[in-house]
Amino acid sequence: MIVPLNTTASQSPRSTPNTAQRESVFDRLESNVRSYCRSFPTTFARAKGSLLFDDQARSFIDFFAGAGALNYGHNHDRIKQAVVDHLLADGLTHGLDLHTTAKAAFLEELDARILTPRSLDYRVQFTGPTGTNAVEAALKLARQATGRTGVIAFMGGYHGHSLGALAATANRDHRAAAGTPLSGTTFIPFPGAPHEGIDTLAYLRTILADSHSGIDIPAAVILETVQAEGGIHVAPVEWLQGLRTICDEHGIVLIVDDIQVGCGRTGPFFSFERAGIVPDMVTLSKSIGGLGLPMALTLIRPDLDVWKPADHTGTFRGNQLAFVAATEALRVFDDEALQETTAANALFVEERLRADIVALDDRIQVRGEGMIWGVDLGRIDPTGALAKIVSQQAFADGLIVERVGRNDAVLKVLPPLTIPHELLDEGLRVLAGSVKIALDSVVA
Ligand code: PMP
Repeated sequence: MIVPLNTTASQSPRSTPNTAQRESVFDRLESNVRSYCRSFPTTFARAKGSLLFDDQARSFIDFFAGAGALNYGHNHDRIKQAVVDHLLADGLTHGLDLHTTAKAAFLEELDARILTPRSLDYRVQFTGPTGTNAVEAALKLARQATGRTGVIAFMGGYHGHSLGALAATANRDHRAAAGTPLSGTTFIPFPGAPHEGIDTLAYLRTILADSHSGIDIPAAVILETVQAEGGIHVAPVEWLQGLRTICDEHGIVLIVDDIQVGCGRTGPFFSFERAGIVPDMVTLSKSIGGLGLPMALTLIRPDLDVWKPADHTGTFRGNQLAFVAATEALRVFDDEALQETTAANALFVEERLRADIVALDDRIQVRGEGMIWGVDLGRIDPTGALAKIVSQQAFADGLIVERVGRNDAVLKVLPPLTIPHELLDEGLRVLAGSVKIALDSVVA
């Protein structure tokens, strides 16, 4: 049996309970739907770089990075300054989809720094500012462009919570919350754990080739090249290339959801670059907004851009502050050589996870790419209770690390790409210490 940890009894001075007064306002007024605040129960007041500070002035190393929205860390000086300058100059803050100087600057920078150097030819659609809305747009457009309705998605995949995106999201609990049937998606296994040994591409080929498979040729295949919420599963390069080929053979729109693992998270700006493939559509959100400001976009192969004006509209498609931050963030990505730093940090993180954590128990698995890593405790405790103890202990010791995957049994290591070496080192030390404490607390 796994015994829950009493974090308030931890010896760490960081574990002082937060002010009851502040907690009560949330308990009293905020909807029960809130979630992350339950894992990290304090009231945050300030944040800088890879550190968060609560209202008791306690500091926390951030291995969560706003679920991937803070690749450049909190309040990056250059990005913040650009936003402040824009505000002080009375630049537009809201712009629907009007032409503005801020949007023009972003598009020019995106083209010059990201698209043209990679020979990528995409139209840019600014969707509503959430990731799920970029996914909605991609799925709707793929259906319009192909005249088909079905979608193939992957077990463990996560694409958002509005109904269209939720239909392609695998988690049963999330799906159940819809309260209405979610149809039109066929889920097939993703390569690797927990479905090792299944040749998913062969299976997909069979479905598509057999006129009696019961599954219509779909409009789109949607995937994360590294499943994040699903438990950090990295699609192999050859697998991604094979998937691209299959989509080509059947005229299926290949959508890469790069909302969490794009913007340099895996090293290159786009996560699919490591496979040398070019998706037909790409969804981006989270870190594209640079400073954690809401922004989302869908990149579209030009001939698939069959929208009629206002086919997919929304009031907040023109977050001007996000455009300003995003423009500066693209420069920062190059100027701070974040691709190179991420490649070096990846080696360091993997080495430390193996040496300090897998060494504690060889049933622990680590997986990752760039600066997204998973520490999978599912083979020791598939219920997720052990991972929860680790996350609570880490929090008590000043580290924010979230849980993902089946039953939340995987700890997700997701620091800002800009994290200084000492903080990365310290965070990994706290994580290893927390795993050790949790393992010791397990009463068989
Ligand atoms: N796709 C992926 C891969 C994601 O990780 C997320 C968010 N975790 C989404 C889509 C949905 O984004 P949002 O929460 O902004 O709607």
